[in-house]
Amino acid sequence: MSAIEMNLIPPLKSTPLYEPTFRIADVIDGRARLTDDQFLELYENTPLAQLGQYAAAMTERLCPTDYRTYVIDRNINYTNICTARCTFCAFKRNDPAAPDAYTLDSEAISAKIRELLAIGGTQILMQGGMNPALPITYYENLLQTIREKFPSIHIHAFSPPEFVEFSRFFNMPIAEILRRFQACGLATIPGGGGEIFSERVRSRIGPGKCTGEEWLDVMSEAHKLGMYTSATMLIGHIEDISDRLDHLHRLRERQDWALTHAPAHYTAFIHWPYQSENTPLDKKRKWNPSDGKPFEFDNGRTVRLADANEYLRMLALARLYLDNFRNLQSSWVTMGPKIGQLALFFGANDMGSVMMEENVVSSAGTTYCLSEEMICRIIRDAGWIPAQRNQYYEVIKRHDGPDAPDRRPHLPPPERTRRHQITPEEAAAYKSAVLTISAKT
Ligand code: SF4
Repeated sequence: MSAIEMNLIPPLKSTPLYEPTFRIADVIDGRARLTDDQFLELYENTPLAQLGQYAAAMTERLCPTDYRTYVIDRNINYTNICTARCTFCAFKRNDPAAPDAYTLDSEAISAKIRELLAIGGTQILMQGGMNPALPITYYENLLQTIREKFPSIHIHAFSPPEFVEFSRFFNMPIAEILRRFQACGLATIPGGGGEIFSERVRSRIGPGKCTGEEWLDVMSEAHKLGMYTSATMLIGHIEDISDRLDHLHRLRERQDWALTHAPAHYTAFIHWPYQSENTPLDKKRKWNPSDGKPFEFDNGRTVRLADANEYLRMLALARLYLDNFRNLQSSWVTMGPKIGQLALFFGANDMGSVMMEENVVSSAGTTYCLSEEMICRIIRDAGWIPAQRNQYYEVIKRHDGPDAPDRRPHLPPPERTRRHQITPEEAAAYKSAVLTISAKT
């Protein structure tokens, strides 16, 4: 029995090209939308390299520029105390009295922003656990302080699950909280906590967290208020392909609505594979393709981790399916710089962030770190001009001159002031002081 007959993913090598039963050129050229059935047909039959060609062609239509972008920002995880019990999370502390539970005050956050400004950063991504001890004044004062002290810094903060919990904590409608935070300086909303919308999956991996519809509703409220947002998806755990398709389907529908009814919409989509280390979900049975049985959702008892093939396959399919999302990010934080670069040929047009700090993903064992110089090198070697962007995907600096970060003369380490990559010793010292990671959205 062939791999295709068994409904397994086709191998990377020696697979003949697949002839879709529909006109894929119409999808790539924008004359037709990829249907759900066509999505599944491509997923189950098309070799990876062929999918990449389709996605790259569609990216060229949607982003016909000679550059590819990145942003310089800092993840600030203001608290790790959380009421939720996500089984893929190694970051949260459910007990506020735990020795490593923390909440940052505005002074500590200001110090982090000063460091960010010193390396040319333009924005913060501020997210945290859902900490019932914090009053609404904590957030409002924090936002106002950042806006007053650092007026040039863009505040991209608080994911939908946080807003849903805020509504419960403060006994206040979500739209009202959004309005109040917006008035205090909140500019855009990150897509954290999207995971997988399907309830059969979400209820098993994210107990205590908002539903998929609640997540989408928060973003629609934000769009109505003129706040742009991003969208995310976590793959490679207990979900199957139908759950991922359902997730993309709901995002595409909501984006259609936002583009026609609201002053703002989703600016970008990013997906990444579940990182298993230190997480409760890691104790589950792992799916083994060598057993010859296709992976199927089995009520959360089996985990199917996503490798580079699966990550790139989903990226290419997301590019083809999400025809109303202009930007797709490469997830080099979880996939590493080499697959991160390859992602530019599979539908991504943005390298995401040069991150000074990442606490959520690093808690789960992923510690890739790239400097601005390295991100620029990755983009240029792939054939595009690197360009620094803002959160609206507007270019701030095009690096086509001799003073580009990757073209400056290499100085010995003590004189290199624009070094963003931390050494292993610094990482160890930092981890012992604060917990480390959070997925970049
Ligand atoms: S993923 Fe977020 S919401 Fe879930 S437990 Fe971790 S910090 Fe809390």
